[in-house]
Amino acid sequence: MTLLISFLAGCVGNGNDSDSQPDDVGDNSNSDPGGSTSEPEISPNAITCPDGTTGTLEWRVVTCAEPKIFKTSDVSNETFNLTIEWYSIGAAEWGNYGPVEIYIIGEDVDAAKELEDFYCERHKDLDSNWNEEWDCANENYQIFTHYVDDGGAAISTFKRSYLEYDFMMMTMSAKYPSPEEDDYKPVTLHEYFHIFQHSHISDECSENSRDTCERDSKMGGKDKPWFAEGGAEFMAQSLYSTQDGVRDNYLRDVMKHKLEISQDDYNSQNVSLDQLEYSSQVNAYDVGAWFIAYLVHNEGVEVFLDGFYEELDELGFDAAFEKNFNKTKNEYLSEFDTFFQQHAEDVLMIIPEHSNNSEEG
Ligand SMILES: [Zn+2]
Repeated sequence: MTLLISFLAGCVGNGNDSDSQPDDVGDNSNSDPGGSTSEPEISPNAITCPDGTTGTLEWRVVTCAEPKIFKTSDVSNETFNLTIEWYSIGAAEWGNYGPVEIYIIGEDVDAAKELEDFYCERHKDLDSNWNEEWDCANENYQIFTHYVDDGGAAISTFKRSYLEYDFMMMTMSAKYPSPEEDDYKPVTLHEYFHIFQHSHISDECSENSRDTCERDSKMGGKDKPWFAEGGAEFMAQSLYSTQDGVRDNYLRDVMKHKLEISQDDYNSQNVSLDQLEYSSQVNAYDVGAWFIAYLVHNEGVEVFLDGFYEELDELGFDAAFEKNFNKTKNEYLSEFDTFFQQHAEDVLMIIPEHSNNSEEG
């Protein structure tokens, strides 16, 4: 079999390739709380950074580690490089988190199956608790092959009570949007923002998706896309709009379009934004993006990123929301509903006209 997988040489970490238990035993309990002079233990999460310095790779902590990136054999190097480029733009803006594995799926189903086999073997090697029966692809569980027909992009979190090796998986497809379309770039940023979100949540879920998991409520509610998807979409489009070569008023145009296709439908029904589901008639992504635009407009992006997300893990969603935004979630939602009932031109006022031409001063 030919080698179908491309590797991005990342960090070599002793946390990556060992089967040992994560070592969080309280070795420091006897040390002088005023400042110990003893040699620090080498952390199980210690890694060697690409520049040769020592860093750390663990959930919730900004890292020097690059993502591991893999592609099916039919995906071009150009697409591979484009994905790294836009992933890096997201990581530079919102902080580089990990561990992350990126898988890029092309249009050949056999190649996608080969990558599923590779993924299975990789994680059996990385984690003695990886369960081939349900963690690897099977008749009822397609990991990559459905992207060949369906397209799309997604983040999956593997921070689970039964696993030892925690990671986030970013799956990109070459189908929709295609790497030839400009949309591939903001979609990559959108997925990176999900990595930012998940990196601020430490809860582990069980292997049973029917069990409640605190991670879901910290994302804004299980199967309720408004906050997580609205945040990823607005933040990605905002960042994309400031990049070189992106047309003037890109963000305003995108948000105007979202408004046009969602405003009347949302206002004429009575389901609260935070209760809309993926399958709802009203697109919770579009209205959610408007909610986050409204929130960031009022509170500032720092309060959203450095306040709310920093405190989310400890306080939980509702308390972190109220503490940082000075209203309960329900108060903010009802204020938003009033805002969103205005004429479209008035709603649009919060998205300023924007030019990337710096010579305008
Ligand atoms: Zn998303």
